Amino acid sequence: MLAHGCTTVILAVTEFDFDFWRPNLPEIVKAAHQLGLKVLLDPWGIGKYFGGEQVSKFLQDNIENRQVSALTGEKLPYACFNTNSFRDYFQRFCLTLAREAGADGFFWDEPHYAFPKSYASIIGGVADERTCRCPVCMKRFQEYYGYEMPRIMNDDVKQFRWREALFILEDTSRKIKEIDPQQEITCCVHATLNSYYVTEYRGYDNWDMVASCPYFDVFSTTIIAWELPEAFFEQITRRTVEVSRRYGKKSERWLMGYYKQPQDFGQVDKVVDLYESLGVDRLAAWTYRGGYGTVLAALDALKLWDRIGENYKRVIKR
Ligand SMILES: [Zn+2]
Repeated sequence: MLAHGCTTVILAVTEFDFDFWRPNLPEIVKAAHQLGLKVLLDPWGIGKYFGGEQVSKFLQDNIENRQVSALTGEKLPYACFNTNSFRDYFQRFCLTLAREAGADGFFWDEPHYAFPKSYASIIGGVADERTCRCPVCMKRFQEYYGYEMPRIMNDDVKQFRWREALFILEDTSRKIKEIDPQQEITCCVHATLNSYYVTEYRGYDNWDMVASCPYFDVFSTTIIAWELPEAFFEQITRRTVEVSRRYGKKSERWLMGYYKQPQDFGQVDKVVDLYESLGVDRLAAWTYRGGYGTVLAALDALKLWDRIGENYKRVIKR
């Protein structure tokens, strides 16, 4: 990583790592620090609430406190982060690591409601499926708005989802900073245009609301696939920087360093130049060595990793 110009490592910590390998975590952090790398902890895929391919111990151990489909009423393999059960679980995970691990901060990695991601329609709207209509969300909605939570998304449901989704991260971030005020919190949300026609209602699509959280230090938007038009990269990046500056946060943009690579590796250089010219404060790539050795490796994983590394070194020199 150092040879590739990295200054920070995002250490993905799975639920199993926490449950089983926890004594090793401070040692890993110490080793990274000795090399001069800053360490951010990523509660990777926890409860399938964050992004990540790992399996969830919470879902294995709990048959309740799951997100529930609004249309069918089925329980889904996603923890409901509005329940006290999951909030306690998540907070214990993070606060224990804040006390023990000795890292420099936390990385909130694509937090989301289960739907409607896969239902975005070609003509611009989203289908009517959504989460969460679990008993806890239903009760809280009823108490606040005075009527039963509708199956179809309306403005009250949107507000409710945004507010509840932010609570768990805001509350946990605040408590982390009470333990150690130096801990740096990055919130990384999905890179969606959130235009008049298409908004991805996954709970964190109201960027102003997310970036205004006083306990977040860095506002980050996630990976864009290489084959998407340059204009998309530009619009997402411009808005990321604007929103970050509006609330006095650092901005972060990502490079896709796994799974799919650009047809022409020169695109990596171009996108890095674009990010830099638009004033992005921090660059990041997922994942180590282009995912080499995993099922999500890029075709030329090590070449992609090298090209990203050359770019890191190029911009750091400037
Ligand atoms: Zn719920």
